[in-house]
Amino acid sequence: MTPYALKHIENKICISCLRPAEDGHIYCQFHRSQMKDRSRRSKEKKVALGICISCCEPATHWRYCKKHWLIHKESKRRYYRKRSMIMEKSGRCSNCGAPLDPDSDDGCKSCITCRERVTISDRRSNYK
Ligand SMILES: [Zn+2]
Ligand SMILES: [Zn+2]
Ligand SMILES: [Zn+2]
Repeated sequence: MTPYALKHIENKICISCLRPAEDGHIYCQFHRSQMKDRSRRSKEKKVALGICISCCEPATHWRYCKKHWLIHKESKRRYYRKRSMIMEKSGRCSNCGAPLDPDSDDGCKSCITCRERVTISDRRSNYK
Protein backbone atom coordinates (compact mmCIF):
# COMPACT_ATOMS: atom_id res chain seq x y z
CA MET A 1 0.00 0.00 0.00
CA THR A 2 1.53 3.30 -1.09
CA PRO A 3 1.19 6.49 1.00
CA TYR A 4 -0.76 7.88 -1.93
CA ALA A 5 -3.35 5.10 -1.69
CA LEU A 6 -3.59 5.54 2.08
CA LYS A 7 -4.28 9.24 1.60
CA HIS A 8 -7.06 8.37 -0.81
CA ILE A 9 -8.57 5.88 1.59
CA GLU A 10 -8.44 8.49 4.32
CA ASN A 11 -10.21 11.01 2.11
CA LYS A 12 -12.64 8.40 0.79
CA ILE A 13 -11.41 8.76 -2.77
CA CYS A 14 -11.14 5.84 -5.18
CA ILE A 15 -7.52 4.58 -5.27
CA SER A 16 -7.71 4.19 -9.07
CA CYS A 17 -9.14 7.58 -9.96
CA LEU A 18 -10.27 10.77 -8.22
CA ARG A 19 -13.94 10.01 -7.91
CA PRO A 20 -15.40 9.62 -4.43
CA ALA A 21 -15.15 6.05 -3.15
CA GLU A 22 -18.25 4.12 -2.17
CA ASP A 23 -18.96 3.87 1.55
CA GLY A 24 -16.71 1.29 3.15
CA HIS A 25 -14.81 0.61 -0.08
CA ILE A 26 -11.53 1.76 -1.54
CA TYR A 27 -12.90 2.14 -5.08
CA CYS A 28 -15.54 4.32 -6.70
CA GLN A 29 -18.66 2.72 -8.10
CA PHE A 30 -17.17 2.52 -11.59
CA HIS A 31 -13.92 0.84 -10.57
CA ARG A 32 -15.70 -1.43 -8.15
CA SER A 33 -17.95 -2.80 -10.87
CA GLN A 34 -14.98 -3.06 -13.20
CA MET A 35 -13.02 -5.09 -10.65
CA LYS A 36 -15.99 -7.28 -9.97
CA ASP A 37 -16.51 -7.81 -13.69
CA ARG A 38 -12.91 -8.73 -14.23
CA SER A 39 -12.76 -11.30 -11.48
CA ARG A 40 -16.16 -12.64 -12.47
CA ARG A 41 -15.10 -13.01 -16.08
CA SER A 42 -11.92 -14.87 -15.26
CA LYS A 43 -13.89 -17.10 -12.90
CA GLU A 44 -16.54 -17.73 -15.51
CA LYS A 45 -13.89 -18.63 -18.05
CA LYS A 46 -12.34 -21.13 -15.69
CA VAL A 47 -15.71 -22.59 -14.78
CA ALA A 48 -16.55 -22.96 -18.48
CA LEU A 49 -13.26 -24.72 -19.11
CA GLY A 50 -13.73 -26.96 -16.09
CA ILE A 51 -10.70 -25.57 -14.29
CA CYS A 52 -10.42 -24.98 -10.53
CA ILE A 53 -11.00 -21.27 -9.86
CA SER A 54 -8.11 -21.16 -7.37
CA CYS A 55 -5.45 -22.84 -9.50
CA CYS A 56 -5.06 -24.48 -12.91
CA GLU A 57 -5.95 -28.05 -11.96
CA PRO A 58 -9.06 -29.68 -13.45
CA ALA A 59 -12.18 -28.88 -11.39
CA THR A 60 -13.31 -32.21 -10.06
CA HIS A 61 -15.26 -30.90 -7.04
CA TRP A 62 -17.83 -28.27 -7.99
CA ARG A 63 -15.70 -25.30 -9.17
CA TYR A 64 -12.56 -26.46 -7.44
CA CYS A 65 -9.97 -29.19 -7.56
CA LYS A 66 -10.19 -31.47 -4.56
CA LYS A 67 -7.49 -29.60 -2.66
CA HIS A 68 -9.06 -26.16 -3.04
CA TRP A 69 -12.56 -27.46 -2.49
CA LEU A 70 -11.49 -28.80 0.89
CA ILE A 71 -9.72 -25.54 1.74
CA HIS A 72 -12.74 -23.52 0.67
CA LYS A 73 -15.14 -25.68 2.67
CA GLU A 74 -12.99 -25.64 5.77
CA SER A 75 -12.30 -21.89 5.73
CA LYS A 76 -15.96 -21.08 5.21
CA ARG A 77 -16.99 -23.34 8.05
CA ARG A 78 -14.34 -21.97 10.38
CA TYR A 79 -15.17 -18.37 9.50
CA TYR A 80 -18.88 -18.73 10.16
CA ARG A 81 -18.42 -20.72 13.34
CA LYS A 82 -15.93 -18.28 14.79
CA ARG A 83 -17.97 -15.28 13.78
CA SER A 84 -21.28 -16.51 15.15
CA MET A 85 -19.58 -17.57 18.39
CA ILE A 86 -18.08 -14.12 18.89
CA MET A 87 -21.30 -12.35 18.01
CA GLU A 88 -23.40 -14.58 20.24
CA LYS A 89 -21.08 -14.05 23.18
CA SER A 90 -21.18 -10.27 22.84
CA GLY A 91 -24.94 -10.15 22.24
CA ARG A 92 -24.62 -8.96 18.68
CA CYS A 93 -26.25 -9.87 15.41
CA SER A 94 -24.36 -12.80 13.83
CA ASN A 95 -25.00 -11.28 10.43
CA CYS A 96 -24.13 -7.57 10.63
CA GLY A 97 -22.71 -7.20 14.15
CA ALA A 98 -25.31 -4.71 15.38
CA PRO A 99 -26.13 -4.97 19.10
CA LEU A 100 -29.21 -7.07 19.70
CA ASP A 101 -32.22 -5.55 21.37
CA PRO A 102 -33.25 -7.78 24.29
CA ASP A 103 -36.91 -6.85 23.79
CA SER A 104 -37.38 -7.50 20.09
CA ASP A 105 -34.46 -9.82 19.41
CA ASP A 106 -34.84 -12.12 22.38
CA GLY A 107 -33.59 -15.61 21.52
CA CYS A 108 -32.59 -14.61 17.99
CA LYS A 109 -29.06 -14.65 16.65
CA SER A 110 -29.65 -11.87 14.15
CA CYS A 111 -31.03 -8.38 14.60
CA ILE A 112 -34.45 -7.25 13.44
CA THR A 113 -33.00 -5.50 10.36
CA CYS A 114 -31.29 -8.67 9.15
CA ARG A 115 -34.34 -10.78 9.86
CA GLU A 116 -36.43 -8.38 7.82
CA ARG A 117 -33.88 -8.36 5.02
CA VAL A 118 -33.98 -12.14 4.84
CA THR A 119 -37.77 -12.14 4.53
CA ILE A 120 -37.65 -9.46 1.86
CA SER A 121 -35.04 -11.27 -0.24
CA ASP A 122 -36.99 -14.51 0.23
CA ARG A 123 -40.07 -12.77 -1.04
CA ARG A 124 -38.12 -11.32 -3.98
CA SER A 125 -36.74 -14.67 -5.05
CA ASN A 126 -40.22 -16.18 -4.87
CA TYR A 127 -41.62 -13.36 -6.92
CA LYS A 128 -39.68 -14.20 -10.12
ZN1 LIG B 1 -12.37 4.91 -9.53
ZN1 LIG C 1 -7.24 -25.82 -7.19
ZN1 LIG D 1 -28.06 -7.66 11.71
